[in-house]
Amino acid sequence: MSAHTENSASNDSFNNDSINNDSINNNSASDSNPITVSFDNSYYRELPEFYHAQQAAYVPSPSLIKFNHELAQQLQIDLQGASEAQIAQAFSGNHLLAGAQPLAQAYAGHQFGHYNPQLGDGRALLLGETLDVSGQRYDIQLKGSGTTPFSRRGDGKAALGPVLREYLFSEAMFALNVPTTRALSAVLSGESVWREQAKPGAILTRVASSHIRVGTFQFFAYNDQPEKVKQLADYVIARHFPDATQSSSPYLTLLKRVCEQQAKLVSQWQLIGFVHGVMNTDNTAICGETIDYGPCAFMDRYDPATVFSSIDSEGRYAYGNQPSIAQWNLARFAETILTLISEDEQQAVELATQTLHDFMQQYHDLWLTGMLAKLGITNQQEGDRQLIEQLLTLLKDHKVDYTQLFRSLSSSLSDDQTVTQALFNDSQGWAHWRIKWQKRLEHNPMSVDARATLMNQHNPIYIPRNHIVEQVIAAAEQQQDFEPFEQLLKVLQQPFVQQSGCEEFAQPAPEEFGPFRTFCGT
Ligand code: AMP
Ligand code: MG
Repeated sequence: MSAHTENSASNDSFNNDSINNDSINNNSASDSNPITVSFDNSYYRELPEFYHAQQAAYVPSPSLIKFNHELAQQLQIDLQGASEAQIAQAFSGNHLLAGAQPLAQAYAGHQFGHYNPQLGDGRALLLGETLDVSGQRYDIQLKGSGTTPFSRRGDGKAALGPVLREYLFSEAMFALNVPTTRALSAVLSGESVWREQAKPGAILTRVASSHIRVGTFQFFAYNDQPEKVKQLADYVIARHFPDATQSSSPYLTLLKRVCEQQAKLVSQWQLIGFVHGVMNTDNTAICGETIDYGPCAFMDRYDPATVFSSIDSEGRYAYGNQPSIAQWNLARFAETILTLISEDEQQAVELATQTLHDFMQQYHDLWLTGMLAKLGITNQQEGDRQLIEQLLTLLKDHKVDYTQLFRSLSSSLSDDQTVTQALFNDSQGWAHWRIKWQKRLEHNPMSVDARATLMNQHNPIYIPRNHIVEQVIAAAEQQQDFEPFEQLLKVLQQPFVQQSGCEEFAQPAPEEFGPFRTFCGT
């Protein structure tokens, strides 16, 4: 059974009958629009049974909030003088760009540990793929573009708040050198969506190396379609990990590469204090980019138990659990390709188990190297891990802001340590730790300036602070004021560089902001 037939026909709960997309979009497609994208849609072409071809819903009066010109240039998207209105028509889905072949991808996934066989793009559409200036292939996807056969009871839409959040977070992560999907545009749809109350609707255009997830493999593996799993694995190898074709065991190499990418990704998350919030297998991209900025947030005070998502009552996706959850998700991926790894089941399990074990080792190595760089250290010695753990324990005990603390450390290289000291309730623990750190630095000689530069390249000043993101969203939702969004985005685009007049963006939330909770409600 294909994704196409199964999902379009069999489930009464799919809410896909309210909009006749085809007739509406065929009209609007004839509108003139100068924007050109050189689409080359390999997913559409090579995996016909892995999606449902679907037009975007028509929206009444789209208007442009933000367009990422720098990313458009990288993707060789030629605006050819298009007006804002024309950009909004194209990236709301009202005007179908020439060469786009919109489709909703099928996928399943483990959500909070429970398998859900029917997920898929319920409010997103892949418009197509294009090659960037260096020949790298990217997906261009609309999010909030109307119902699909995978929408279940959802409306297929996105609200303005989550669209702005995803725009800010994904661009912040990019600037922080973390693998991530990007934001190409945000458009107001001109209609309201219902999220416990009426909210302005919006559409995000997202760019990813691909939107193939662990859940995409699961969809076909659990439907008992091994030939489709193989087809998908071959597609992923060709697109993301072509070196695997040279290997004597291409599918084991595929697993290794996917694990390596996740180790890099999650170590970066841990180093900057990012909490994804909903690490379900459908939100784990095979290419290793951070995807689906729903209930994510940056940790403020250091605590491994940090959880922001209102629905994560058990703390499954707490900050400190992210590496082991990534391993769990990778194990679910490994299960889907076991028979490809080896026909001998026991051997396949042994090879996969070893690879998952290696993942954790790689993660720990990357984390340690990254943490040492944050402390201005470029070599490794016995006892380094303990030195780091001691600092983290101090941070936890003193409820110290993680980002502020690490950034302050470069100023403590000199004798003046007032900035760091002020972050602790009681400076004794810090003073002791600093002596050990100073001793350790003697084993890695470097000028103070060189060390401070190294540290400042690894310790950001600016992250998307929860209270500021909330203010930005409130201004946009309530006053149609997008200036705070623009301002915050600009600051986040250079997170490692001190920007004058931007001190407030580096401060933790005031006490009265209280404990922060995020919601998935896109
Ligand atoms: P997410 O929370 O973004 O990971 O989405 C989980 C699943 O719910 C995916 O299959 C989404 O397509 C679907 N979904 C989330 N919000 C909506 C919505 N408003 N309408 C339709 N489907 C949705
Ligand atoms: Mg998702």
